[in-house]
Amino acid sequence: MPELLISKFVDKPFEENISFFKSTLMQIGFFNPHVFFNYNHKDLVQKINDNDIKIKSIHAPTIDIFQEHDFFGMLDKIKEEYPKIDNITIHPGSGNPLKAFKFFERFEDKIDSYEISFLYENFDSSKKNKRWLPRARNIYSVPIKNIFLTYDTSHVKIGTDIVSDLKEFYPRLGMIHLSNKSRRVNHLPIYEGEHDLSKVVNYLQNYPGFVTLEYHNRDDTLMQDYSDLLTLFKNRGVNNSN
Ligand SMILES: [Zn+2]
Repeated sequence: MPELLISKFVDKPFEENISFFKSTLMQIGFFNPHVFFNYNHKDLVQKINDNDIKIKSIHAPTIDIFQEHDFFGMLDKIKEEYPKIDNITIHPGSGNPLKAFKFFERFEDKIDSYEISFLYENFDSSKKNKRWLPRARNIYSVPIKNIFLTYDTSHVKIGTDIVSDLKEFYPRLGMIHLSNKSRRVNHLPIYEGEHDLSKVVNYLQNYPGFVTLEYHNRDDTLMQDYSDLLTLFKNRGVNNSN
């Protein structure tokens, strides 16, 4: 059975509404590096604890290895404010893959010392893609052991056989960002949009890693789907043990 999380980007409205997400497991996200470095994380953690929320993962701000100083600054900050975090979702920055591999090799010991797995997100459906890890399948070209994939179902083309992808990438899969999409909008609730996700949900019942619901601006549906999926996954677990 997967560990089901909800994803929310952190800002003032999120903090003001935090009780709405009471007693969930979460991946919290920061988009803007400046906001991340200057955020009052202590206050946020206090509110999170007061609402019985558990942070299992952080969606890192848009910083990657080509900004060496900020990259390590970000890891230091995560370790300082969220010492239990052992994985982050991160977007691959624009740059040359060989340069990226060299960076990871050069700083291998330092990076290992954080005890954080880097779950790089796929961008298969984006057109002008100059990222050093442009598509999900490129995860296999990365010669670094603690780099895994966050497979985002909103970042693949409509019609993609997602179950077959998930099976293929399983050995390097660190997380699934689960949402639906239409031709115009992505990060829709799983039962809206043009992906048929019923087989994916079925497959995920036996997936033992992180599955994270990542919707944009649909908090009511997000919480309903979270609770329905939790029930589904739990019941499946019971059936399996019989
Ligand atoms: Zn995502």
